[in-house]
Amino acid sequence: MDIGIFGGTFNPIHNGHLIVAEQIRERFDLPRIYFVPSSVPPHKEGPVLSGEHRINMVNLATDLNPCFYSSSIEVDRGGDSYTIDTICEIKKDFGKGHNLYFIIGADAFKDIHAWKDCHRLLTACKFIVISRPGVGLKKSVADITALLAKLKLALVLKMIDKQKDADPPYSYKIEKHRSDIFFVPVPQIDISSTRIRSLVKEGMSIRYQVPDSVELYIKRNGLYTE
Ligand code: ATP
Ligand code: MG
Repeated sequence: MDIGIFGGTFNPIHNGHLIVAEQIRERFDLPRIYFVPSSVPPHKEGPVLSGEHRINMVNLATDLNPCFYSSSIEVDRGGDSYTIDTICEIKKDFGKGHNLYFIIGADAFKDIHAWKDCHRLLTACKFIVISRPGVGLKKSVADITALLAKLKLALVLKMIDKQKDADPPYSYKIEKHRSDIFFVPVPQIDISSTRIRSLVKEGMSIRYQVPDSVELYIKRNGLYTE
């Protein structure tokens, strides 16, 4: 089975996450996408809402899509969440014969060099890098190519379906490995959790930026008010 893994802080999950995940589900014909909220995010500053609240909101948001699932694997593991550990754990749980696709925004992918065991991670699963307002995919391709060359990772990116310099989508095969990196443009939805948190704090509306159920959960639990 092809399985999508969408990692993030999800503080809170919002409609940007859901819209792009649905696009990727359809495009890659993924029967399942797991939303995996991180425990303590390693590259973020400031207090993050408890794993329990974030999982609850992911559950509410994914409830109505039969292909969307939530996973508390990182929150349960506790401590800093490293994607390589998560991928290994999921692979172990599912056993052999599955393709894992890690879905990541271009803004997050540009920091991939700082992730634990980035070399191993890049070959442990396939990557789907999606565009995000302000972060172009051509730049992501250039960044990752430079990174691999700099680190002498012995990973050779081979473009498999497009002419060089053509517009995205691009797909790259990591030679000698069964992994691929797909750079896929998605509708540019200018919604972020940071903005949602600040809107709530200022008492402003977040309607239509998060599912109604998540908006209600935030209100009922008095989240993000300070
Ligand atoms: P924050 O502002 O707190 O960083 P966020 O909106 O970026 O929150 P994250 O939980 O950090 O949400 O994102 C999880 C993943 O979803 C990341 O890979 C991120 O790039 C991607 N993502 C988040 N929002 C969007 C969006 N509007 N369009 C495309 N990708 C997105
Ligand atoms: Mg983010």
